Amino acid sequence: MFVDTALITVRAGDGGAGAVSFRREKFDPKGGPDGGNGGDGGSVIFVAEEGMSTLFDFRHQRQWSAQPGDPGGRKQCSGSAGADLVIKVPPGTLVYNHDTGEIMHDIRPGDRVVVAKGGRGGFGNEHFKRSTNQTPRTAEPGEPGEQFNVRLELKLIADVGIVGKPNAGKSTLLAALTAATPKIANYPFTTLSPQLGVAELDGTRRIVLADIPGLIEGASQGAGLGHDFLRHIERTRILLHLVELAPEDGTNPAENYRVIRAELAGYSRELAERREIIVFNKADLFTTEEERRQAVNDLCRELDLVPERDALVISGASRLGLTELLERLWKELHPSAEVSGWRPAGAGTA
Ligand code: GDP
Ligand code: MG
Repeated sequence: MFVDTALITVRAGDGGAGAVSFRREKFDPKGGPDGGNGGDGGSVIFVAEEGMSTLFDFRHQRQWSAQPGDPGGRKQCSGSAGADLVIKVPPGTLVYNHDTGEIMHDIRPGDRVVVAKGGRGGFGNEHFKRSTNQTPRTAEPGEPGEQFNVRLELKLIADVGIVGKPNAGKSTLLAALTAATPKIANYPFTTLSPQLGVAELDGTRRIVLADIPGLIEGASQGAGLGHDFLRHIERTRILLHLVELAPEDGTNPAENYRVIRAELAGYSRELAERREIIVFNKADLFTTEEERRQAVNDLCRELDLVPERDALVISGASRLGLTELLERLWKELHPSAEVSGWRPAGAGTA
């Protein structure tokens, strides 16, 4: 349903040629062969990069090449190996051979795979020296590196599924979170449904959010659009449960929360056990800070939550608390990031 694709060419480096050469020393005018071997070509390697969730970067660069190996030299000097080209791709990327249609790799988290193997360097003439042939005059050329046209395909799995009653403000929140950066607005998601968006916290941290508008009473029995969307949120890692702090239709907010929880449980136990971040929305509707605090405290008491700790308070429409919300989501999605000293790629250490 939500698919992001890119077509690129990966080219591994050719192996360096072996050298043909003979020792030429003062006291050994007819020296034996001493041509060194060529270096191996570099390979094109894909590594799964946690936190990367689009193929955006591949739209700007089509050709990805690793370095060739250097040719062998005189005096048995081997050529240097070409450097590998290591490319970061989002986990979940499928790599297809575009010409045959065959699937080559299915990149899982933590994977590091050689997509195009560098060519082996050729042997120099020294290698071919035999008792029967003391002066071989031939060396091998390097082998060519592998080259493929590959199609990358990423099924965009939303990291976060936004659930809540109709009018809770899901669409507004998604728009506010994902339209904030113009880069996102320009993102060429041709096949993307408007219920999915990518929020960018900074240059490298992105979160894919899905608005799940179909989640209404009865959806778990297959009514309306509900089922398709529920199937989609089954694969999200976190649920963002949006609750109107003071529902404009006069309904009870705690009851609204429970209706959605019952929906989730009715659909699948697994989904009901999914980590959930509770977010109280439309905080802008209060005239005084005191009234707002009162409403938050009342709702927390009813839902048995500790204010501040268990529930975030935002306004999607007025963009209140959105930065905190994104940072909180990121932390939930990448719990080990801080502990392991994780920093965004390219941030440098110096
Ligand atoms: P959805 O049904 O959950 O997608 O909710 P929408 O995003 O369509 O919003 C429903 C209504 O609430 C719309 O009239 C919005 O303008 C309004 N709304 C959404 N977010 C806020 C908010 O943060 N504050 C206020 N005051 N109104 C909001
Ligand atoms: Mg909506």
